[in-house]
Amino acid sequence: MAITTAKATTYHNFIDGAWVPSVSGDLFENRNPADSGDLIGVFQKSTRRDVERAIEAARRAYEHWRLVPAPRRAERLFRAAQLIAERKEALARDMTREMGKILDETRGDVQEAIDMTYFMAGEGRRQYGQTVPSELRDKFAMSVRQPLGVCAVITPWNFPMAIPSWKIIPALVCGNTVVFKPATLTPLSALNFVKILEDAGIPPGVVNLVTGGGEEVGNALLVDDDVRVVSFTGSTGVGRTVSETAAPSFKKVHLEMGGKNVIIIMDDAKLDLAVEGCLWGGFGTSGQRCTAASRVVVHDAVYDTFVEQFSARARSLRVGDGVDPSTQMGPVVSRSQLDTVMKYVDIGQKEGARLVCGGHALTSGGYGKGFFHEPTIFADVAPTMRIAQEEIFGPVVSIIRCRSLDEAVTIGNTVQYGLSASIYTQDINRAFSAMRDLYTGIFYVNAPTIGAEVHLPFGGTKATGNGHREAGTAALDVFSEWKSVYVDFSGRLQRAQIDTADL
Ligand code: NAD
Repeated sequence: MAITTAKATTYHNFIDGAWVPSVSGDLFENRNPADSGDLIGVFQKSTRRDVERAIEAARRAYEHWRLVPAPRRAERLFRAAQLIAERKEALARDMTREMGKILDETRGDVQEAIDMTYFMAGEGRRQYGQTVPSELRDKFAMSVRQPLGVCAVITPWNFPMAIPSWKIIPALVCGNTVVFKPATLTPLSALNFVKILEDAGIPPGVVNLVTGGGEEVGNALLVDDDVRVVSFTGSTGVGRTVSETAAPSFKKVHLEMGGKNVIIIMDDAKLDLAVEGCLWGGFGTSGQRCTAASRVVVHDAVYDTFVEQFSARARSLRVGDGVDPSTQMGPVVSRSQLDTVMKYVDIGQKEGARLVCGGHALTSGGYGKGFFHEPTIFADVAPTMRIAQEEIFGPVVSIIRCRSLDEAVTIGNTVQYGLSASIYTQDINRAFSAMRDLYTGIFYVNAPTIGAEVHLPFGGTKATGNGHREAGTAALDVFSEWKSVYVDFSGRLQRAQIDTADL
């Protein structure tokens, strides 16, 4: 898995059951975003050739794995869930070190992988199909799920273990094999996850890990005819490239992409609860969640009070290294993410929004070696401003005023994305109207836009997704396809839709 020298630990790819270096011999560094002097390790900068080897291994392994009965496949996955649970604390610490979010949140990320693995392992004994009466005598009609083959799994860095588990575990329980390309910012958590699958007894070639850049490694997966499914989570821009590149070979492409999620606060809301929700929704993971509440639409009657209370609480959040138990918000993941946040703070000010809190990168004292930014709030944001329309993916929240529920819903829907929305109200009629009219894949009442559980479908509408869902049993639809089976035991030719006289 790794070789440690005085300089650094070198981590390898996992292909056909062996930990191997890239054919290129090139490496890339993984550093701690809270302290860029902390080198976590060096990882394989893989090439097209490495990807081809991994696909070939997965293709061969598929011929065996697809025939292993699903309940037997699931036994290995139950074992994997146990191992993740046993290693939870170490996995969370590695994750905080490589991507910055606080330990409570990385423990949550690992917990999500445990939950998903147990849930999907249960599907080894379900994967229900349909049996229906045939329109003809002495004929049996049913549908069964069948696997597709080699699945490419391409993931982002913000949920380094949860998101891979959402894809790899359902792929495996359905009988597929996998080539996994994680984000370059979080290869260690990916490697830890694959090591657990190896330790759980998943056979060689069934899961392969190839680290490296999106254009080289990711692209090689998209153009190979032997890859039949691509499951991608990341930005909308890259998702579009993934979709276009995979289209000529008619792969099944599952995309989970960006968000610009909204919390609506009505005049009858419990304001304390709404403030708590906006803090967690806006600044959890330093705002780097696809479901982050980056827009808050507030009714005119409570607007000023909300802005005052929310900004007071945001100002008091303790920013720091995520391993420190007193830290409430960690760094952003990289220099380039910090630059993006600073760019949008500048854009917001130029657009005329009112900066009520934060607005600066933290660069002095203990912050000097990391990528820290103050929790930042803009008030008096117009719905058309770029800070209200574009995904920033950092600790920046835009507050927009509304005068009615209808207006709030229109504002909520007038973005290109459609992942998650929420409403704070004590009025059940308003809650249900908003649930019906906000065009998103996920909706909350009296809770922020984050907090999905593994046993319901997860995904978004419009530029967030392409119609698929992950998690829940919906994930099985990504990683399997239906075969309809007719068994005629009449002993004679029976013609469907033609031999209709027989009552
Ligand atoms: P990204 O799009 O930059 O990268 C995602 C993955 O795609 C990485 O592994 C990257 O290496 C790879 N990639 C890059 N170029 C590629 C190419 N040409 N071909 C194939 N693969 C390529 O995203 P990111 O910065 O890692 O993550 C942040 C984004 O992910 C945000 O937009 C966020 O909203 C989104 N996200 C969405 C969800 C969701 O479920 N909807 C969940 C988490 C994150």
